[in-house]
Amino acid sequence: MDMNRLRDHMVEHHVVRRGIRDQSVIRAMRIVPREKFVDPGFEEFAYEDAPLSIGEGQTISQPFIVALMIEKAHLGAGDKVLEVGTGSGYASALISRIARHVYTIERHERLALQARERFEKLGYRNLDVRVGDGSKGWTNAAPFDAIIVSAGAPEVPAGLKEQLDLGGRLIIPVGRSDEQRLKRITRTGASTFEEEDLGGVLFVPLIGEDAWTTTHPMYT
Ligand code: SAM
Repeated sequence: MDMNRLRDHMVEHHVVRRGIRDQSVIRAMRIVPREKFVDPGFEEFAYEDAPLSIGEGQTISQPFIVALMIEKAHLGAGDKVLEVGTGSGYASALISRIARHVYTIERHERLALQARERFEKLGYRNLDVRVGDGSKGWTNAAPFDAIIVSAGAPEVPAGLKEQLDLGGRLIIPVGRSDEQRLKRITRTGASTFEEEDLGGVLFVPLIGEDAWTTTHPMYT
């Protein structure tokens, strides 16, 4: 199977034709091999525009949504970025091809270790992976130019807003699973933030101290 051809087709049909314009995002999607971020045996489905199971009840997100979130974060080449919810590592890998450095945090140890191994195999060196609760952010590495949260929170965690640099952007799905909205929060001053609604989405829950509890009825 010619993965390069499938990848180009996916980018053309599910990313460019659906309105993604940021050339750095399109370029990253053309070079990061999504087939290396899915479970063995699922490579042939890697270039469909759909989420896929990665174990632990989690998913690698749909390519279009990943592209949209990264585009909306307005990343620059010098940016330091936090991704909360490493999962397979695919979104972090894309971000690492655009920004200066990526910090990525995942609550499931197996997924975090697997993602780290994938980055090493691909020779992607500008990423740090940690196991932990990303609803609290990554204090030691803050402030960030952008934070992308790849799981849905009940509300915007205050700690994540605080870890944005001035002008920094936080992209986060917020709300119950049946009414989740993608938000962009931009830090406009020491204690001022601007919030925009970017549309409806459906993500697995962000589970942590400043997020849903594992027993929340919307997600059990
Ligand atoms: N970005 C990932 C990718 O490209 O494969 C997909 C992320 S998946 C939709 C959401 C991930 O968020 C899951 O792997 C889940 O375990 C993780 N997660 C949920 N709550 C978290 C938390 N508080 N801290 C860190 N990771 C969390």
